[in-house]
Amino acid sequence: FQNVTQLKEVEKIRTDFIATISHEFKTPLTSIIMGTDVLQEEGMGRLNDDQRQFIQAIREDSERLSKLVNDLLELTRIESGKAVFKFGEYAIDDIIECAVKPFYQLAQQQEKNLYFSCEDDIPHVIADFEKITWVLNNLISNALKYTEVGDEIVVNAEEKGDMVYITVKDSGRGIPEEFTDKIFEKFVQVRDGDFEARGTGLGLAVVKEIIEAHNGEIWCESELDVGSSFIFTLDIAGKEQNR
Ligand code: ADP
Repeated sequence: FQNVTQLKEVEKIRTDFIATISHEFKTPLTSIIMGTDVLQEEGMGRLNDDQRQFIQAIREDSERLSKLVNDLLELTRIESGKAVFKFGEYAIDDIIECAVKPFYQLAQQQEKNLYFSCEDDIPHVIADFEKITWVLNNLISNALKYTEVGDEIVVNAEEKGDMVYITVKDSGRGIPEEFTDKIFEKFVQVRDGDFEARGTGLGLAVVKEIIEAHNGEIWCESELDVGSSFIFTLDIAGKEQNR
């Protein structure tokens, strides 16, 4: 018994430590990013090409760090049971629209086609609106990260049985078969040949925890050089008691 108690204590110290450190990182990171904003808008004077490139590099690394901190915070919150889920009944197309909207401009800038299709009269789902938006943001931002100019990203929702299936499909580089399960584990990234890791390896671990807290499932179907689909399920409102 003593070992279990000690283990729990150590686990609590670990999660508290991560939460505190992550919080401490957030504020200075926000000011670094705001600082690069001012510099990039030439608020402190005109920039030459070298300066612009240098500041862009600072910005990208700071944003990556900021995502790592946010993912770590969210993951420790969920793992320690401290995350609060606010479940309600929502139209899935409202959630998807809210998640897709911030990416249209980025997709256009990167010359990729991003769109969303949804069956008419699709039933409402049981979800935490913000958390499912977070899930979709992660999946869409990955799809944009791992596709090239001219590629396509489609977000789709359809009803099947007691569930709604939501798919984020891209025509990007795909994922080797031996990785399609593993990428949902913490810090797993595909590093293989010319596959260069561009993120933190935490996003999909958080995504999976969120979907499982919804009693749903998530998986990846992918073919190298053809593209990947990330599919997750949510309960249809009013039918969840049948499961
Ligand atoms: P990261 O921050 O590295 O993107 P994730 O947990 O979101 O972390 O993803 C883990 C890994 O899964 C990525 O590093 C990448 O190798 C792979 N991956 C995720 N989404 C895609 C995708 N749409 N296409 C190709 N590879 C992907």
